[in-house]
Amino acid sequence: MKEILKMYIDGEWVLSNSGKIRNIINPANEELISTVTDGGREDAIKAAIAAKKAFYEGGWMDTLSVERSRLLYKVADILENELDAFARLETLNTGKSIREAVIDISKSVSCFRYYAGLSTQPHGMTYEVPDRNVQSSVIREPIGVCGIIVPWNFPLLMAVWQIAPALACSNTIILKPSELTPLTAIKLFEVFEKAGFPKGVVNLVLGDGCNVGAEIAANTDIDKISFTGGTNTGRNIMMSASSNIKKMSLELGGKSPNIVFDDADFDTAIDYALFSIFTGQGQVCVAGSRLLLQENIHDKFIAKLVERAKKIRVGNGMDKNTEMGPLISESHMKKVLNYIKIGKSEGAELICGGNRIVEGDFKYGFFVEPTIFINTTPNMRIVQEEIFGPVLVVQKFKDEAEAIYLANNTNYGLAGAVFSNDISKAHRVVKKLRAGITWINTYHTTFNEGPWGGYKQSGIGRGLGTFGYEAYTEVKQINISTNVAPVKWFSE
Ligand code: NDP
Repeated sequence: MKEILKMYIDGEWVLSNSGKIRNIINPANEELISTVTDGGREDAIKAAIAAKKAFYEGGWMDTLSVERSRLLYKVADILENELDAFARLETLNTGKSIREAVIDISKSVSCFRYYAGLSTQPHGMTYEVPDRNVQSSVIREPIGVCGIIVPWNFPLLMAVWQIAPALACSNTIILKPSELTPLTAIKLFEVFEKAGFPKGVVNLVLGDGCNVGAEIAANTDIDKISFTGGTNTGRNIMMSASSNIKKMSLELGGKSPNIVFDDADFDTAIDYALFSIFTGQGQVCVAGSRLLLQENIHDKFIAKLVERAKKIRVGNGMDKNTEMGPLISESHMKKVLNYIKIGKSEGAELICGGNRIVEGDFKYGFFVEPTIFINTTPNMRIVQEEIFGPVLVVQKFKDEAEAIYLANNTNYGLAGAVFSNDISKAHRVVKKLRAGITWINTYHTTFNEGPWGGYKQSGIGRGLGTFGYEAYTEVKQINISTNVAPVKWFSE
């Protein structure tokens, strides 16, 4: 019998209270990779109690920043030494190409290093107030117990983007990965154990969203919830988190516009149009899922785009020649294929792909062709809703004003890009985008230093950079009298 992988609560590797297990499947061939313990509400409650105890009684809230920094650097070093093993596991579990997985793990390493450094930087401030006898200052303190819920598309990286700043600021954490992709999270907690984190500071609870996720959102021992996932789930989490007015960071979905003007460098814009939507099989929150093309280059651009999209090498992510892997699960693949059906029934013109791939080596696995729709209208569901798959919808525009109008015409506001050689125009348009992450003549670049998050229904708050650090702190004002004397407000 294969080993059952455990979760990590209060410094121990444990099986779930219920004894339930879950099989983890490779989406490229539908084979069993591992069996993991499957937690429930009672396991999340145990983790919350342990994390609270570690924060207050264990003294983690008072750890020195040099000590936290030392531990985070150590985690980064161990992770870097095991980069290949982590990357292979991420590819096995998500289907993403191995070259993408290597980038994800490298970024996780650098994120730990970034916050290890930031934790020892100055974070408070002093300021002059209109009273000569008071010295006023602000310090930043940890929030307490932080629940972190992440999706399956970047299982390790999305977790690290939250865990690293949370620990850098002296919080204790409970991580819940997606039930589909817990494997690199389990391995990360082995790294935490090796690095020597005190008991209860870092906790991993495996299980589904409806039970473990919902408990973490509602549990009153948890002070902050950080959620990365779909907008509808985010809405539910907001309601549950009102139980104890949790601090909240939400990184939600997107339907990001990639705007190409007629004066853009043609080959660069073609290349990035493909890169923006088909990396990660389109299962990327900031994917450029709407391509906005200036009408006079539309036909020429589409002809080349389709020619290139058809050449994308789809396959098992473990093969180093693979450029696009499978979707994460059968049910997600069905959702994506259903959107393709909806697009056709709405009257959009399907000019590339549109099918599950089932021939030859693709008998097993959840592979969908790179898919492109043209002749869309702004209110179509495929234009408005996040499909989260390799499906690009193209919209035509006449001029700058129409490009801006169409770009902003969804409920989302996560990301957006402009391709143009007129840098003044590109900058003008980017400034008008109601989105948190924008690019000019590039796409998908992310930096630990820059803020990450969305406008409108794409989220609340910002991760990464100093913004991500501050999101894990409470702000305290301290006023000290420099002239100790009675206030004499009331008569004696
Ligand atoms: P979901 O919202 O379905 O799930 C995300 C996480 O929430 C999973 O761990 C899931 O658990 C859990 N969850 C599900 N239901 C609940 C609930 N009721 N209460 C608490 N937790 C719950 O998203 P997907 O996993 O499908 O991920 C795709 C979405 O994530 C896309 O919309 C994408 O845009 C967004 N995303 C946003 C990013 C950003 O930075 N803005 C980055 C990456 C993704 P389980 O899977 O175990 O059910």
